[in-house]
Amino acid sequence: MTKLCQGPSCHRYDTTDRKRGPKGNKRNQTRNVGTYSYGNNNFCTLTCYNDWASEYMDRAVDYFGRVRERKAMTPENSWDKRTRYSWQMENGESEHYYYNMCTSEQRPLTEQQYNDSNYTLNTI
Ligand SMILES: [Zn+2]
Repeated sequence: MTKLCQGPSCHRYDTTDRKRGPKGNKRNQTRNVGTYSYGNNNFCTLTCYNDWASEYMDRAVDYFGRVRERKAMTPENSWDKRTRYSWQMENGESEHYYYNMCTSEQRPLTEQQYNDSNYTLNTI
């Protein structure tokens, strides 16, 4: 199913690919998102993304929860899954590891742990 661009003014940009309808009555219409999509596959261009953001972003941020207090990086929330690629390794095999951006500590990760989006190191 084709996904339509969510830009509120998409139909107002005058390009030939937006002109649709019978000959003599072609009108600019909202585009499909297409191959080069933006904003998590919801917009046809960055311009449409920005149009949406200008109109709706304040409400969206308030709806999902505006940040009211500064967050801080600590050793507990600084683990990042990383990969050492084969060309970086003496044995020619890539490996995954957890890297703590706060302390620089590294811990090995199995392929399965690396691919498991629910796997976290929360035992420190
Ligand atoms: Zn658009």
